[in-house]
Amino acid sequence: MKKWLTPIVFGAAFVAIAVAERKRPLRRRVEAKRPRMRQNFAMAGLTTIVTGALQKPLVERALDAKGGLLRRLPRPVRFVAGILLLDYTLWVWHWLNHVFPPLWRFHVVHHLDRDLDVSTAVRFHFGEMALAALFRAAQVRVIGVDRDALVWWQRMLLVSILFHHSNLELPSGADARLVRVFVTPRMHGIHHSDRLEETNSNWASLFTWWDMLHRTFVYGVPQDSITIGAPGRAEAQPTFGELLALPFRFR
Ligand SMILES: [Zn+2]
Repeated sequence: MKKWLTPIVFGAAFVAIAVAERKRPLRRRVEAKRPRMRQNFAMAGLTTIVTGALQKPLVERALDAKGGLLRRLPRPVRFVAGILLLDYTLWVWHWLNHVFPPLWRFHVVHHLDRDLDVSTAVRFHFGEMALAALFRAAQVRVIGVDRDALVWWQRMLLVSILFHHSNLELPSGADARLVRVFVTPRMHGIHHSDRLEETNSNWASLFTWWDMLHRTFVYGVPQDSITIGAPGRAEAQPTFGELLALPFRFR
């Protein structure tokens, strides 16, 4: 398994999507671009350090463990079922991040971005990513996924997260066809609405089927009717320090 492939895929996808969304913007921006970018990239720097530090003790250890649901299945079946179960359980995790208040305290930092573009895709509180690493280790152990399935799913997921957070306007017919399988910028834009009934939809991260299965798939909302943000939090953009402290503050 080539370790260098993932950062190359990530970097190339990031640049390509950033260029494309500048050419064909989907929603009008409300924030000054540069300070917002600095904030999102600073958040990304911290989360990269934390996730990097937790990868070995948590996820690698889980991969080496014996057992798990799929362990005895033939390799191709285990590969496909592993990818599907990883993606479904990530849907559950994202849903928990919204409905369980201690987790929402961290996840709201991602939703407080008042514009949505490829830089939002890397704007997560390091605490959310630390908890997500614990959850990832649990997914790997319980499902019994093999390394190949995890690596390929993570690569697809990374590209999907960059793509569906982007401000890229696809032709509406193309978006509508793609959304039958993959999360698109229009679909995920609805999840980032400041209206609670819209935020409480579209929890999928790669395949859209889980929202269809749970009847939480919402699509036909015009993008220009959406205010990007977190429900009940119309305040001005917090500073970097305020964002880092936010999950630990009671109010
Ligand atoms: Zn969310």
